[in-house]
Amino acid sequence: MIMIEKIFAFLFGACLGSLLNVCIHRLPKDLSIVQPSSFCPKCKTSILWYDNIPLVSYFLLRGKCRVCKERISLRYPLVELITAVLVLTLYAYFGLTAIFFKFVFFFSLLVVVSFIDIDYHAIPVYLCFIGITVGLAWSVIETAQILKTTRIIDPLGLPFVKTLRNLMLGFGFTYLFKFFGDVFITVYLSWRKKESIEGEKESLGLGDVDFMGMVAVFMGIKSAVLVFFLAPFFAIIYSVFALIFKRSHLIPYLPYLSLASLTAFFWGDKILRLFFRF
Ligand SMILES: [Zn+2]
Repeated sequence: MIMIEKIFAFLFGACLGSLLNVCIHRLPKDLSIVQPSSFCPKCKTSILWYDNIPLVSYFLLRGKCRVCKERISLRYPLVELITAVLVLTLYAYFGLTAIFFKFVFFFSLLVVVSFIDIDYHAIPVYLCFIGITVGLAWSVIETAQILKTTRIIDPLGLPFVKTLRNLMLGFGFTYLFKFFGDVFITVYLSWRKKESIEGEKESLGLGDVDFMGMVAVFMGIKSAVLVFFLAPFFAIIYSVFALIFKRSHLIPYLPYLSLASLTAFFWGDKILRLFFRF
């Protein structure tokens, strides 16, 4: 891969990150992501194009609005940087192929749902379903191409059938865990005669179940299971911190499922080999 391609991939990622910032900010409030153009949340001044350059403008403005000097959240350049690095990495893996765009789309959704979940402890329901729909549509196109070129067909091996099976298994096994988790919490609370802390009676939210369905569609059921068991390791570090410093046990879980998804995507095979060697 030549340098100029790397630079283009990174810049494309940074611009995409800029768009993801708009989604993170506006989708939960049911605002359009197209209109109006970006403005300062405090003084409402429209942000000029040269103050809206991904990554660069934040540092040129020293993190403050040009007009009212209100602090701009460090999250904006952070989201742009994360997206740029992810796109560059995907480009290094796949080059300029269709599958590159498939996973750019999937990773973008991971970024958006993670940051919305951090703010709201919930995400708009449709986000994961958009992901699932795109993933299924993708497998339909792949299936159509196979049907066009191949004469002998194994119906169970067709991408669409496989993807649909992954989706059902992904939903199914996460829901099963949610069900038994909820039963456990209910039994535990009534046994200890305790009220639930902060009104939380669910082990996993339904948003987590939808999310796992989406992961299974894009990465297959094996990876989805790995993601499910990796996520708690990422979450536990933050949970301990939250319990000590914030005295809260409510944590947004989707960022950890997303981190686990990225880990499984890049190192899944290695991790699985590590476990099955024993
Ligand atoms: Zn301002």
